[in-house]
Amino acid sequence: MLKGGKIVSRKSIIIIGAGIAGLSAGCYAVMNGYDTVIFEAHDKPGGLCTSWNRRGYTIDGCIHHLAGSGPSSELYRVWQELGALEGRGMVFHDEFVRVEDPEGRAFTVYTDIDRLEQHMKQLSIADAEVIEEYTRAARRFLNIDLLAFGLLKPWQIGMKSLPRIGDFIKWGKITLEDFAQKFKDPFLRKAFPVIQYGFSGIPMLIHLNFLAGCHNRTLGWPSGGSLQFARSIERRYTALGGRIHYRSRVEKILTEDNKAVGVRLSDGTEHRADTIVSAADGHTTIFGMLEGKYIDDGISKYYQAAPDYLDMSLQVSLGAARDMSREPHALALFLEDPLEVSGKKYERLDIEIFNFDKNLAPPGKTVIKAMFGASYGYWKDLRADRERYEYQKQEIARAVIDRMDKRFPGLKGQVEMVDVATPVTFENYTGNWKGLQAWMPPDRGFGTMMNGFTRSLPGLDNFYMAGQWAEAMIGISTAALSGRNLVRHLCKKYKRLFVTK
Ligand SMILES: Cc1cc2nc3c(=O)[nH]c(=O)nc-3n(C[C@H](O)[C@H](O)[C@H](O)COP(=O)(O)OP(=O)(O)OC[C@H]3O[C@@H](n4cnc5c(N)ncnc54)[C@H](O)[C@@H]3O)c2cc1C
Repeated sequence: MLKGGKIVSRKSIIIIGAGIAGLSAGCYAVMNGYDTVIFEAHDKPGGLCTSWNRRGYTIDGCIHHLAGSGPSSELYRVWQELGALEGRGMVFHDEFVRVEDPEGRAFTVYTDIDRLEQHMKQLSIADAEVIEEYTRAARRFLNIDLLAFGLLKPWQIGMKSLPRIGDFIKWGKITLEDFAQKFKDPFLRKAFPVIQYGFSGIPMLIHLNFLAGCHNRTLGWPSGGSLQFARSIERRYTALGGRIHYRSRVEKILTEDNKAVGVRLSDGTEHRADTIVSAADGHTTIFGMLEGKYIDDGISKYYQAAPDYLDMSLQVSLGAARDMSREPHALALFLEDPLEVSGKKYERLDIEIFNFDKNLAPPGKTVIKAMFGASYGYWKDLRADRERYEYQKQEIARAVIDRMDKRFPGLKGQVEMVDVATPVTFENYTGNWKGLQAWMPPDRGFGTMMNGFTRSLPGLDNFYMAGQWAEAMIGISTAALSGRNLVRHLCKKYKRLFVTK
């Protein structure tokens, strides 16, 4: 093969996992002349970026906001390279979320920052100064797309960051909870901390970046939802000539003289390649497939500190024979009568109403989803007794329907589909250890953003990781960039020109 005037050999790559990172690595590897095969444990692509069908409804398990949804984001071209947006409309919401309390007050986080400022002042003119501080800060993020930093070289990141370093430091240190304390109005003080998907302890920096992205129309929803989005990338990969094998679980990464040389599948077959890439779960890769032989202190500590509690890991989805097209698409509903699950009290329901995508439900009907943070340990223990596990799932669904019926009278009688996914469901589905998603190592911070966490492993050659565990950071765009940057790195290593077509 002739590239950049030089004859180069066609190197082979095995990729483990067809989540967004594996698919992305696969696409760019084939574009750059690598003989590429993906082994995926499941029978479909996408990993966490997935949806499933129940009784004529499509439940989306993942996307709220896709970074790079609009052409003004640099990430947009990555999705074009990956064919992810082909034939796909994008939905941009006018509201980020609406927060309501039982007394009938509502705070709407409009994605238009001017409208948001006006609305907040209507809610509490006494807070005008704080509101202006907030919206002024959001406007300062309009020209900086933090999520696209992965596309840049370190010096470019430096150039872009330098004029904003003050903003990064200031807003990186303040959480939504901290900022909320500045409001005099008790409702704003209560509502503000829950506006970023209800997550707690989120730095204002993250929220301001999201708000600016929604205002700019670069954070949106790809119509059809998560699985369709992943399928588009899978189509691009196979159209380029990449091979993919489903129901092919990798059990072991084969090594010789501290070099990765191949993989062994659960059916006992062995496959060899010049380079092995794992885009599968980090813990399974490092401690399972590689038996913990290639680690250092940082890696051990990271996995030892794995959290038990994970946001959004308990999802109650309902299919209702009800047109909800006039309802907000995202609602944080403070409850009169808190809900108790697994001994934990939930003061609020965080709800998504999928009224904006007609592909997900039959005409005149709607998918609604309530999301909770949950303990993996609790659900794992419960799962040992299948009957109790199913009972508990029904109980929480019943409680959710009950609370929602108060906000949407008559809903109870219109529910015709109920689906509950727990942290154990996520574990079973993706093979992700304890149903977890990656988290940032607390002691590394900015360095991890630049260099990733385990893009390679100490002492092992010809082996790489891609995706959330390689980067210690979640996000569909992060996963895609991780796959792209890996192939760019390989091209540099083998002195090839990196191409994206
Ligand atoms: C509820 C929820 C909401 C989210 N919302 C958003 C959002 O709005 N926007 C956003 O950008 N991100 C969102 N994310 C995060 C995003 O989905 C993930 O960060 C991203 O999809 C991770 O991709 P990945 O390819 O790194 O890993 P994964 O998706 O985990 O893919 C790993 C793949 O490896 C396969 N695999 C595992 N073990 C093996 C094995 N032994 N052999 C072969 N294959 C194996 C798995 O089956 C899977 O397909 C959300 C995640 C969740 C759970």
